[in-house]
Amino acid sequence: MSEVLKAPLVVEFPFTRSLGPVQSAFLTGLRERVVLGVRASDGRILVPPVEYDPTTADELRDLVEVAPTGTVTTWAWNHAPRRGQPLTTPFAWVLVRLDGSDTALLHALDAPGPDAVHTGLRVRIRWAGERTGAITDIACFEPHDGEPARLTGSTGEFADPVGGIVAAARLDYTYSPGRAQTAYINSLADRRTVGERCPSCRKVYVPPRGACPTCGLPTTEQVEVGPRGTVTTFCIVNIKAKNLDIEVPYVYAHIALDGADLALHARIGGIPYDQVRMGLRVEPVWTDGARYPDHYRPTGEPDADYDAYKELL
Ligand SMILES: [Zn+2]
Repeated sequence: MSEVLKAPLVVEFPFTRSLGPVQSAFLTGLRERVVLGVRASDGRILVPPVEYDPTTADELRDLVEVAPTGTVTTWAWNHAPRRGQPLTTPFAWVLVRLDGSDTALLHALDAPGPDAVHTGLRVRIRWAGERTGAITDIACFEPHDGEPARLTGSTGEFADPVGGIVAAARLDYTYSPGRAQTAYINSLADRRTVGERCPSCRKVYVPPRGACPTCGLPTTEQVEVGPRGTVTTFCIVNIKAKNLDIEVPYVYAHIALDGADLALHARIGGIPYDQVRMGLRVEPVWTDGARYPDHYRPTGEPDADYDAYKELL
């Protein structure tokens, strides 16, 4: 039994979001060093503002300026800042009720250590040097000994308002596929596709998960399947993924390898996208040194009968 694999896995994508009138005013305000809240149906001022009343669900549009100074309502110390966080040195996460607001805003507080932070601490916004209309226009909060800051008199109307933001989402994992998929991946490196058979229902799972989900039994008998298989169903991809060097449109398909009782999924190449069909017979295409097939292509065999794969859809 070889060692179970593990590897770093990063899932990263830019999330593009349109803002609507309230969030647009809030973020454009930050760009102009103005903080705006919204008046709720019960008269409370909510910061950050929301588009709909949290109690009545009424649409909220009455923007109200609040001060860039406020009071810490609760906090937690962050000993080890991570990539992308507001400060690179240890800092406090704080909820700050800005002067004039009835709710608190989450942000970072630059402080020398946890002893310098307490509930009730007076703070003010430290504005970022370069502001674009984003929550990061507030670089962080800093302790502030003094009266509430004066308002600018903003009505929430700005020239050139921000209409959307791109929020980069990134998740860092150490991923381990477990015993069964480690064996599957290692076999692929030898250009063999190996699944596992359930001792009770005799189904062959590819890729194997180590257990039969129907019978609840571990699967240990290894079974080589393929390399050829049948397209059971497919979709045409029209949206180009960032960092993926494949021209759209292309076809992504479920493929039941010969001898397998479960379809795996892969890209179909070597055929115009609009000629791919259910029942198409395909085989894997390997590139030099690759640990898994780059894609599947037609074998030239006649299409499989629907009855041959209808249970694998
Ligand atoms: Zn089973």
